[in-house]
Order: sequence, then structure tokens, then C-alpha cells
Amino acid sequence: MADLSELLALGIADARDGLRARRFTARELTSAYLAAMDEARALNLYITETPERALADADLADARLQAGHAEAMTGMPIALKDLFCTEGVRTTAASRILGDFMPPYESTVSGKLRAAGAVLLGKANQDEFAMGSSNITSAFGPSINPWRVTGAGVGEALTPGGSSGGSAAAVAAGAAIAATGTDTGGSIRQPAAYCGVVGLKPTYGRCSRWGVIAFASSLDQPGPIARSVEDAAIMLGAMAGHDPKDSTSAAQPVPDFEAALQGGVKGMCVGVPKDYRVDPMPPDVEAAWARGVEMAKAAGAEIVEVSLPMTKPALPTYYIVALAEASANLARYDGVRYGARQEGADLAEMYAATRAEGFGAEVRRRILIGTYVLSAGYYDAYYKKAQRVRALIAQDFSTAFQSVDVLLTPTAPGPAFGLNEKTEDPVAMYLNDVFTVPASLAGLPAMSVPIGLTASGLPLGLQVIGRPFDEASVLRLGRAIEDAAGFDRSPRLLAGGV
Ligand code: GLN
Repeated sequence: MADLSELLALGIADARDGLRARRFTARELTSAYLAAMDEARALNLYITETPERALADADLADARLQAGHAEAMTGMPIALKDLFCTEGVRTTAASRILGDFMPPYESTVSGKLRAAGAVLLGKANQDEFAMGSSNITSAFGPSINPWRVTGAGVGEALTPGGSSGGSAAAVAAGAAIAATGTDTGGSIRQPAAYCGVVGLKPTYGRCSRWGVIAFASSLDQPGPIARSVEDAAIMLGAMAGHDPKDSTSAAQPVPDFEAALQGGVKGMCVGVPKDYRVDPMPPDVEAAWARGVEMAKAAGAEIVEVSLPMTKPALPTYYIVALAEASANLARYDGVRYGARQEGADLAEMYAATRAEGFGAEVRRRILIGTYVLSAGYYDAYYKKAQRVRALIAQDFSTAFQSVDVLLTPTAPGPAFGLNEKTEDPVAMYLNDVFTVPASLAGLPAMSVPIGLTASGLPLGLQVIGRPFDEASVLRLGRAIEDAAGFDRSPRLLAGGV
């Protein structure tokens, strides 16, 4: 049997080899992760931990391995974002209103991962209903980024990003081998960038939304968060596929993403959109982007500057479309059908009290804005206009993809920020999403891959955006950058030193 730190250092691909070669068992691997979760408890990574379930899953995996059957994820200890309904395991969406919700069904994606042999460590922390970029809106308190500014002292606690912040931080801290996230406007990619891990938002419709608690149905998309591009490819293969229970799920064959990685990037045409800038552009971000471009070129890709003129209106467009859909989706939490109820003198008061008590401030703000932009008199001015702009954004991308295969941009306009920064100003928080929302509005696959550290020692990510259903090219360029960057994930094992 290998020792704890050796086991925790393995990614999915290596752990799979070790399990198949019987160098260690799934129970040993899982026990190592349960110990790492204990160590990392101060990071508040999980809302619900499921150690007994994990060991039972691991024993099942060992039995499968003994019998010579191994699926893609057999014995892999993972975290599920607490937005994925899990049968018999509390699922909260990080909200008080679902604080005691015990789903009677399993989401398609978590069911697929289970069928592929994955071991459930627990339900990862997140922003409430996936609304946020910092984890600060979780009703269970935020997860904390295992990374710290280097230099004198320990440095202030940083956000892991959001909304899938618990998932990304758990992977970065070595408290899960990989995790699921969901991405509506950047919630897989931005926390992956802040935590120095890989996060892939697949094409809209690639992974089923069935059983994933809805935020904005035309944008929500589950995807993997992992330590390497290869791990993300393996996990995506286990999560993806057509699902008749989700009418927006795509009837597309699922390629062998792992095999697709072998292709390399020779001759691939990489577009660099000059519009992906903030003013002022942080020098660290600018330099990281330029390094990524050089790495792509050195690996044999051709670099072309492209223009996506509708990038600027993408952010306000997103915050109209997503909030409109959220206001409709969250109408179901009325104290009657789901979740917590606060009594009132009559029905209207019961609704009001339930929703006022059950939802946090950011969720309430979004329901108000969403309701406003859908209301008579404002529908045309805001919602309808936003839909038109959304179509133009998608058009921009399809024009660019006539001449390039993928696009390369920064993932976020900076590294992880302090846990309590930006909490007073919702717009400052929304501005974090400038580089991630355009691909969401266009439904395109996009991945964040770590490129290196800022001068103060914090991870930065680059974003690779691809054509619809061409996750393979996204993974290939991501892999080339990962290889060239040689990113050192060592703070992952320092989680205990909070
Ligand atoms: N940060 C964005 C928001 O707050 C994106 C969230 C997400 O992708 N779920 O809406």
C-alpha cells in the first residue's frame, strides 16, 4: 500500500492505473481522501460529507476491480456540487430554503458518474443557487481558497471563486480527486482559474441538466473540475451523453475525449480576440495571456487576431437573461411544494415569509431584477433586447469560427480576491464574469487551464473556447498549454495549514 501523500498526489489517470495494477485499493484511496477532508475542514469545502457512503462505494469499486471490471471512474473519490440532486443525500443548493431537502431522485449526471464507478465523498459548497462569483452567498458560509498570497505572514483568506467554489477548492486542496461543477456564466471556469485547477464547461446540451437544481435553464451546464486536462477529459466522458429526460440535451455521440487529447495542436488555428480586455488590463493577466499565445505557437498552432465586437454588451445581456430565467425558476420555492416554510396569516403572507426567510440577499436581489425585466412595459426594453443581443453574440462567434478553430483568452480579469472584497458592491462582483459570459450566452464549450502565478503567487487561468460540440479541440489546446506551463500545484497539499 502506498502512503497517504503518494495516494493524494495521483490524478484520475494515474489512480486508475494504480487501482487496476492492484498497487492499492479503492478503500485505501478513499480513506486517504477522507483523511484529507478532515485536514482541510477549516476551508469549509463541503456542505455535507458522506464518509459512510464513500466507503461503501469504494468497497463496491474494489469488488468490481477484483472481478476485472473497471469503468472510467471506478474507485475515484469525487465531490458533487450541492446543486446535483442525490437520492437520499441532502441537497441544499447552499440555500436555507432547501436546508433539509432530501431528493427522492438522482440527477442524470451524478447517476452516470455513480454508474461509472465514482465514489461520493460529499456535496461541495457553492454560492446559493449558483448565484455568485465568490462563494460568499452560501447559506453555509463560504469555502476558502487553499492558495494564499506569498510573502510576509499568512495573508488574508481568499475566495475560491464561484459559484462552484467548494468544488474547485476541494480539488485544489486535495480533498477530492475531481469534482462536478455547473456553469451558467463562468461558475466552473472562474473558480478553476482562482484555485489553479482545470474546469471545463461543455457545450450547452452536452451534459444533462436533469436533476440539477435550475438557475438559468438556457445557460446552465454541468461539467468537470479536475487537476489536469486529461482528468477533465476522462470525467467529461463519464458525465456526457444524450438524456431523454432533458429536452435540451443534445442527441450527439460522445467522442472518446481521452483519445482526442493525443491529437496535439499542429496546424490548429487559434484566435486571439482583441476585445477581451478590461480597462486597465492587469499586467499579470496580460503577461499570462501573451505567454499562453507563445506556448500555443511553440506547440505548432497558428495564431490569428480576431475581433468579437459584441463582447462588451455580453455582461449586461447575461445579467438580464440569467436573472429573468432565475426569477421564473425560483418561483417554485413557495413553501408548498419544496423546502422550508414560514407560516403566515394567509397564503400570501406565508409565501412572502417563506421566501424572505429562505432566500439570501443576492438571490432576492436577482429575483427582483429578473421579475422587473420580465414585467409588462419593461419586457421589450430589457428582456427582448437582451435576447436580440444574445443572438448577435452567438453570430460573432460563428463568424470567428469560420477562420479559427478555437479562441484563447484570459479566464478572469484577475486572480482570487479577498473573501470580503466586493461584497458591498454587486456590480463589482458581476464584472468578474466579463470574459466567461460570452461563451455561456453562445452555448459554446470553454475550459480554464492554469497558466502560472501572479507576482504575489496566486494562480491565473487561460480560457480556451471552441466550436459547438468540439470539446476535443478545446482539450487539445488546453493540454498543450498545460504541458508548456508546467504549473506547480503544490499548495494543494498545504490545506491543513489554514
Ligand atoms: N458569476 C456568475 C453569476 O453570478 C455566474 C454564475 C454561474 O455560472 N452559475 O451569475
